[in-house]
Amino acid sequence: MFVITVDARRCDGCASCVQACPMDVLIIEAEKASPARPELCMCCQLCEVDCPNQAITVREA
Ligand code: SF4
Ligand code: SF4
Repeated sequence: MFVITVDARRCDGCASCVQACPMDVLIIEAEKASPARPELCMCCQLCEVDCPNQAITVREA
């Protein structure tokens, strides 16, 4: 299991992370990224790489 953290102060809801995620883990909710299906995360970190605001981080629990 991996822990996905979104910094709401940095996230502008651009959805780049949603599009980057190959496992459909992320959604946009109230204009912020949200890990709707964290159990599917494989820690590829493509969401981190594609976020223009360094708003999302993924680490091992
Ligand atoms: S680390 Fe990979 S699988 Fe996990 S949320 Fe980010 S893009 Fe999706
Ligand atoms: S890519 Fe970054 S700024 Fe854009 S929605 Fe995802 S976490 Fe937020």
